Amino acid sequence: MSAYKTIIIGTGPAGLTAAIYLARANLNPLVIEGPEPGGQLTTTTEVENFPGFPEGIMGPELMENMRKQAERFGAEFRSGWVNSVDMSERPFKLSVEGLGELKAETLIISTGASAKYLGIPGEKDNVGRGVSTCATCDGFFFRGKKIIVVGGGDSAMEEAHFLTKFASEVVLVHRRNDLRASKIMQDRARSNPKISWSLNRTPLEVESGPLGVTGLKVRNNETGEDETIATDGLFVAIGHTPNTKFLGGQLETDETGYLIVKPGSTETNVPGVFACGDVQDNKYRQAISAAGTGCMAALDCERFLENVEASLIEA
Ligand code: NAP
Repeated sequence: MSAYKTIIIGTGPAGLTAAIYLARANLNPLVIEGPEPGGQLTTTTEVENFPGFPEGIMGPELMENMRKQAERFGAEFRSGWVNSVDMSERPFKLSVEGLGELKAETLIISTGASAKYLGIPGEKDNVGRGVSTCATCDGFFFRGKKIIVVGGGDSAMEEAHFLTKFASEVVLVHRRNDLRASKIMQDRARSNPKISWSLNRTPLEVESGPLGVTGLKVRNNETGEDETIATDGLFVAIGHTPNTKFLGGQLETDETGYLIVKPGSTETNVPGVFACGDVQDNKYRQAISAAGTGCMAALDCERFLENVEASLIEA
């Protein structure tokens, strides 16, 4: 079996942008789509902050457009689940459920990060109907409304503070009295008059009606009693999990599991393996920043392949 020049794993904005660039460079990348083609944007509704769409665009449509654009230039798409990758030598070997073993001279990892959910009744059913994991994406839809943010880390503080731009009131619900967030982020949230606190409360159930979320049922851990906090929206900010399990620890990660790339590039610690998008970005996590790093990964990859070819000619 001959090796692909490049295999891209993951089809969010990072992977698809890399595919567009590599396909236009005649490198015929293979793009492996997992069970959620298009990534996190396919679970959102309208995207209003992706440049070039003055009226906004629906998340799934934006991703479909990117896919078609990559296909137009010759990118090949196949569905499969990558179980493992052997990076001990090039070509790298991938074991892909549904596709068998594949080989690639270079790899682009763009598998993203998944927002953690609470896993309580009513939560998943109301995603897009008041439940969100992305304040930057969905905060705008809650102008003048009451919002609950769940979590006690920096993300929850940041999202709560950001959401006060739109909401009439933000209630921060956290399962303990102590916050995990850094002091500076806590201080900023505490000094914001629009934020109120409901600490030591464990979320139990998302309540909803025909128009979406109406409240969050919580247990008061001090009294043991259950109560419902009325709300129009629920932002779950309890962290993200980068999707790197299939890499089996071959690539360096930071202490939270995000892939480490060399500053100013998309190179990982294994030559020929590049990472882009949320799987290596714990900070910005935006579609446009993911697309930007996807472009970088394609260019880094192209240069790597050119250097390999040049060294083969010299030898
Ligand atoms: P995090 O620090 O892991 O905090 C997650 C929070 O969610 C914790 O307070 C945790 O509660 C709570 N939680 C987890 N599972 C829960 C569940 N099932 N039910 C209820 N609550 C639950 O995650 P993060 O806030 O996303 O931050 C991740 C990293 O990014 C951190 O290193 C952070 O400093 C960094 N970050 C930095 C910035 C910034 O500097 N601007 C912004 C965002 C994130 P417990 O505390 O009880 O465990």
